Amino acid sequence: KGSKDVQPEVNIGVVGHVDHGKTTLVQALTGVWTARHSEELKRGMTIKLGYADGDIYKCTNCPEPDAYSPEPKCPRCPKGSVPQLLRRVSYVDAPGHEVLMATMLSGSSLMDGALLVIAANEPCPQPQTLEHFMALSIVGIKRLVVVQNKIDVVTKEEALKNYQQIKEFLKGTWAEDAVIVPVSALHKVNIDALLEAIEEEIPTPPRDLESPPLMWIARSFDVNKPGTPPEKLVGGVVGGSLIRGKLRIGDKIEIRPGYPVRSGTKIEYVPLESEVVSLRFGNVEVEEALPGGLVAIGTKLDPSLTKADALVGSVVGRPGELPPVFNELTMEYHLLERVVGFQKETKITPPRRGEPLMITVGTAITVGVVTSITKDEMSVKLQRPVVAWKGARVAFNRRIGNRWRLAGWGIVK
Ligand code: GDP
Ligand code: MG
Repeated sequence: KGSKDVQPEVNIGVVGHVDHGKTTLVQALTGVWTARHSEELKRGMTIKLGYADGDIYKCTNCPEPDAYSPEPKCPRCPKGSVPQLLRRVSYVDAPGHEVLMATMLSGSSLMDGALLVIAANEPCPQPQTLEHFMALSIVGIKRLVVVQNKIDVVTKEEALKNYQQIKEFLKGTWAEDAVIVPVSALHKVNIDALLEAIEEEIPTPPRDLESPPLMWIARSFDVNKPGTPPEKLVGGVVGGSLIRGKLRIGDKIEIRPGYPVRSGTKIEYVPLESEVVSLRFGNVEVEEALPGGLVAIGTKLDPSLTKADALVGSVVGRPGELPPVFNELTMEYHLLERVVGFQKETKITPPRRGEPLMITVGTAITVGVVTSITKDEMSVKLQRPVVAWKGARVAFNRRIGNRWRLAGWGIVK
């Protein structure tokens, strides 16, 4: 297979404290700037993830780690060597702290492993370093590489002191033996050693290719330029990452809960059926899409149904094979120890009956009201229906002060 035709096979989350260099690192690994999206929850129901695909090449002539490069040419032996493409990786650089936390807690399936970025020029751990590490622990992401960034702005002694702080921070946790790779993302120093660590520490997990396909819609678009004549219009496009199964061009698909239609004061969701007419990962067109990376599915839907993220929060699968739609969710729940992103140490108390919560399931976000709650189980009536299944992960926010704050997570019963 030519390297041009392959889809990314593994999703790696890039997490860590604000300004520690996550976006810069993704650029060093991919040569692409992930789009910066606003952190707010757009129209109350969107999670925007920044995805960027990067390659891991290995030169057959050079020793390790020099042999590794994100580019198809070896920087050390310009003549003759043809580096081998080992893997295409999809790096997930979420836009903001709370969105990232909700994403991690509700959709671990989007991340097969993580890079924890820690800047060498600040004491470790910073608050979000700790919170993201906690979130990885909660969802059970065990494939981790620690990236000690910004080594260009510290002395050797400072770098070593910071390294000891990182070791101390991880001591006694599941990640105490995690590989720590010092880099400068900005100056692209030691990226080869980081790629080697990613190859060794974050293998592509086994995929469930036999079950019916299932994908959360993370984006939906109308890709036609304004003024395109009707005979040239192409159908609506939906994007997301397959959780399981495969999709092929020509497959019939169903989308649920579907398209929101206002009827009187209520909004109803109309399931949609269509057909896959194209499959793309970035600029790569494929006949068949498997889990890994962000796939854009071209359909025969009227593009007005998919424009402006209208279908974000729905799922795609084969007709009749999707999990059920819920108007009320019952979950076993857990509270975070303290409020995310809050300066004061505010202890979290359990939600009360009748309290409004903001619920995230996969890419779906909706407000709901607690209808019953015990020590470890609660039911929430949802304003907007969501697709879910036993074992699906849910994150919930509470109204604290005048903002929604991430308060806990649950597992659907
Ligand atoms: P993020 O908030 O974690 O995504 O951090 P950014 O990637 O946006 O980086 C924050 C700032 O740190 C930017 O001004 C970067 O140019 C800078 N930065 C990132 N990596 C490095 C590095 O390795 N060395 C230096 N000197 N600056 C860096
Ligand atoms: Mg960033």
